[in-house]
Amino acid sequence: MATMTDLRSLPSVDQLLQTEEVNQWISSYGRPLTLDAIRSVLDKVRLRYAEASTIPDRESLLEQVGSKLQNWTAPTLRDVINATGVILHTNLGRAPLSQAALDAIRSVASGYSTLEYDLRKGKRGTRSVHAESLLKRITGVSAALVVNNNAAAVMLALTALARRRAVVIARTQLVEIGGGFRVPDVMKQSGARLVEVGTTNRVHLADYESALDESPVMILRAHRSNFRIIGFTTEPSLTELASLARRVGIPLVDDLGSGSLLDTSRFGLGHEPMVQESLAQGADLVCFSGDKLLGGPQAGIIVGRADLVAKLKKHPLARAIRADKLCLAGLSATLLHYLKDEAAQEVPVWRMIAMSTEQIRERAQNWVEVIGHGEVINGESTVGGGSLPGETLPTFTLALRVRSPNRFIARLREAHPAIIARLEDDRVVLDPRTVLPEQEGALLDGLRRVYEKRH
Ligand SMILES: *Cc1c(COP(=O)(O)O)cnc(C)c1O
Repeated sequence: MATMTDLRSLPSVDQLLQTEEVNQWISSYGRPLTLDAIRSVLDKVRLRYAEASTIPDRESLLEQVGSKLQNWTAPTLRDVINATGVILHTNLGRAPLSQAALDAIRSVASGYSTLEYDLRKGKRGTRSVHAESLLKRITGVSAALVVNNNAAAVMLALTALARRRAVVIARTQLVEIGGGFRVPDVMKQSGARLVEVGTTNRVHLADYESALDESPVMILRAHRSNFRIIGFTTEPSLTELASLARRVGIPLVDDLGSGSLLDTSRFGLGHEPMVQESLAQGADLVCFSGDKLLGGPQAGIIVGRADLVAKLKKHPLARAIRADKLCLAGLSATLLHYLKDEAAQEVPVWRMIAMSTEQIRERAQNWVEVIGHGEVINGESTVGGGSLPGETLPTFTLALRVRSPNRFIARLREAHPAIIARLEDDRVVLDPRTVLPEQEGALLDGLRRVYEKRH
């Protein structure tokens, strides 16, 4: 590399601009960025020269410019193949969208839309009509509101209804969800005064009743999305809390987290609380995520009593956390699957949950045959994403015994698209359940390449 020793032999920017490589870069990356890259490489060479008195040859300089341009423009948000078997993997972007949701987003994003336009009247409309009419029809509520995410939904409910006032919550529910969402912190941030009742494992209706002395304006229930309390434990039912709230005339707000619209027990899982149940048991407002078990885009959904939803909509915070048109398009298309009773077939999250072990075993077996390595073993997939803690789905995985599993897994991450696998008992394990059928070709290509590199 260091072939020249005189700084005067370092090519100038103008000289490099004459080369074919640089001209190609200019057409792919634009002139200003290409010039930046050239100058930055030449500057560094001059600095180094002061210490080492050597300079790289022209070929090596161009190589450095090329890799700089590549680094600067490479997307950091890239698609990956999720072979972990965790269906709602928060770090990997939670729910993949249905084809209909993708089509709806594409069509709304590529042009103008009726986001806030009433076609019949020919004048300004409101964005709140879009997903909300579907939510009302599906859950039977009188009002609904969609915001940016569920953390924002909870924050809005607390801020608009309980700022500077007392809110009762059980100590069993002062939970932390992934990504730094802590129920007590969100409550404090909203300006609500926290009135904790009960102990960390047991809370009784009488605890709630004695908190009435503090003149609360809301009872909040938060779902323990990502852990379970077992053993000596009790909590009043939602129905009991609802009748207490009704008796004193304050709302009961239920933060369901995932908030399923389908019954997870139909699929051999434990029962994740459903939005419809929470409403039927008397919650006045129910908050849940768009991108957990609903299987749609990131969103926070609030359904329930019209007078309360109206207060939320009017609060200035609602404007700051409103859902954008892409979210509303994707969410509406996703909700339509539920309305048409086709969610289990059309929503990828439910398709993955519903996938039969036989189907999975066949796919894993096929992978073994195609790549000529590994074996099919029993395993467990999880739903993840703050739902059904401790619950697993039986699965079959492709297990690979390799000399250095950690290095192998790191190589898989370098593939395009990157492949995210698991390490289990010193084996590299890949679960077909979370690999989308259309990614299978790329997965097998990636696996084959990593094998070739190793030998
Ligand atoms: C996940 C979760 C949240 C946060 O929802 P986001 O959509 O991630 O903002 C809030 N509360 C509970 C109980 C949750 O499980």
